[in-house]
Amino acid sequence: MPDPIASRRVRILREDVSRKIAAGEVIDRPLSVVRELLDNALDAGARNVDVYLEGGGLARIRVVDDGEGMCREDLELCTERHATSKIVHEDDLARVSTLGFRGEALASIAACARLTLTSRQADASEGWRLVVEGGARRVLEPCPAVRGTAADAAELFFNLPARRKFMKSVSSEAQGCRQSFLDKALPHPQTGFRFFADGALKVFLPPQELKERAAAAYALDPVHLLTGEGESAGARIRTVAGRPELVRQDRRLIQVFVNRRRVSDFSLVQAVEYAYGEHVPGGAFPIAFVFLEVDPAQVDFNIHPAKKEVRFRNLGELRQLLIGTLRGPLAAFNLGAGVQRKQPPAVPGSTPLTFDLGQPPGVAVSPLAQAAPAGQPASRGAPLEREVVYHGQVFRLFLLAEMGDSLFLIDQHAAHERLLFEELLAHPLAPQELLLPVPLAGIQESLVLSRREAWGRLGIRVERGEGGNYAVTALPEELLCLEEELADALCSGTGSPEELRQNILSQAACRSAVKDGEELDPLAAAELVRRALNLDNARCPHGRPLWMEVRRSELWKAVGRP
Ligand code: ADP
Ligand code: MG
Repeated sequence: MPDPIASRRVRILREDVSRKIAAGEVIDRPLSVVRELLDNALDAGARNVDVYLEGGGLARIRVVDDGEGMCREDLELCTERHATSKIVHEDDLARVSTLGFRGEALASIAACARLTLTSRQADASEGWRLVVEGGARRVLEPCPAVRGTAADAAELFFNLPARRKFMKSVSSEAQGCRQSFLDKALPHPQTGFRFFADGALKVFLPPQELKERAAAAYALDPVHLLTGEGESAGARIRTVAGRPELVRQDRRLIQVFVNRRRVSDFSLVQAVEYAYGEHVPGGAFPIAFVFLEVDPAQVDFNIHPAKKEVRFRNLGELRQLLIGTLRGPLAAFNLGAGVQRKQPPAVPGSTPLTFDLGQPPGVAVSPLAQAAPAGQPASRGAPLEREVVYHGQVFRLFLLAEMGDSLFLIDQHAAHERLLFEELLAHPLAPQELLLPVPLAGIQESLVLSRREAWGRLGIRVERGEGGNYAVTALPEELLCLEEELADALCSGTGSPEELRQNILSQAACRSAVKDGEELDPLAAAELVRRALNLDNARCPHGRPLWMEVRRSELWKAVGRP
């Protein structure tokens, strides 16, 4: 028989240590029980964990693991306040590598539920069962048990009827428990997890790779996910993030985990959004699971009882690391991959849709354009190096094209707009004297004085007229059609000069681009398609996607072909 003292691990924290621990409510609803019991299972090194929920977790939450288990002496102590095997000294707080360390979870659960712990250590001949109800120990007895621990919390808040009134509906409590479960399962992909609700298996996550785990947890197709990795002094980062076309209406799937704990750090969520930038349209949000591993000395989890908040020593660096890590795969992600990047077209985009197929080779350096002999219609099946086959226009909006293993439905307006916008950005804007200056009624002098130089770099000249009022006296040709909007933008003074530039150039591009409903000449359309598929950024300046891509395999599948 193993020496009970040697196999005992749980101790009561010395008071000077326990005083240093952020105190607070650990258990406020079923989901917190799920979270804490899963933490314990994972800290015990479980390879497989099952969660059984009854009645939204209010009736029963049972978590079964195959981890290291507890001996009789551990069970005897583990539901006491500040009973833990995870830290001993105050210094340990600075290097916690386990999910738990406060020694409060089991005590809190035992105080407000009927808790039964059944456990057996791998080398023990028998298991032990402990029953604690509303904080009072009822049973501690040997019992047959498999290796590991089963923690069963029944009738949550049975002794706190007032608290029970604060519970939401059974289904929304169950939903919360499920989320809690997923938050634990995601950063532990090597562990198998199952989630049962009222007897039915709801989620099954076998041990798998991180990307597969994220996909399985949120019913995403791994094909749509990109992975990234980054490292800096004291921090390691892994990301599983959606390709840019995979967006949501909310931030629910922007999730940040620090040392395998989900945290609600908004500044890192914002860093994710910043990294996607205009890959994602306004009002939509990317999908990104961020897993940070930070030297425990660099983070402090001891500020929130449920460890949802975290304080970093070097948040700025982490943000940079995160942005860089996400941008790597985003940059490489290019629907026109394999197509050589084209130089900015030689013809500025002020004239609507003048795609010159007859340009001599060398002007348009795309291998596509070179492969199509000058003057020869590059229509169906033209022999191209990387075949982009244009098939025509549908609904007077979409240009249909085939490239590689995909069919593209390209929004003609959005694509043309993006191309014109890129051209405008790439060309210096030369001011042209206006015949009639555009008055800037009521503009603040201080604004003019502080911004005039920056406006000048955009080709916009602002001068004081005879009556002492300011007016725009010169504009680049490309912006002539936007006089009024421009005057408004200048007067409002909101946004940086760079934002102003982006804003007015995108408006200019929008004005000149072919509209939906316009019928396009097939040659011009084919060239538009080629250039669009050659773009690095497949979004219109307002952030909408330029096209929809349908893979051959998806089409095959759609008609039930093997
Ligand atoms: P903490 O996790 O902060 O240490 P808990 O109250 O959650 O505090 O658990 C108290 C102790 O009980 C743990 O430190 C651990 O030693 C033991 N324990 C709890 N759950 C398990 C489990 N599933 N397997 C093995 N040991 C456990
Ligand atoms: Mg714990």
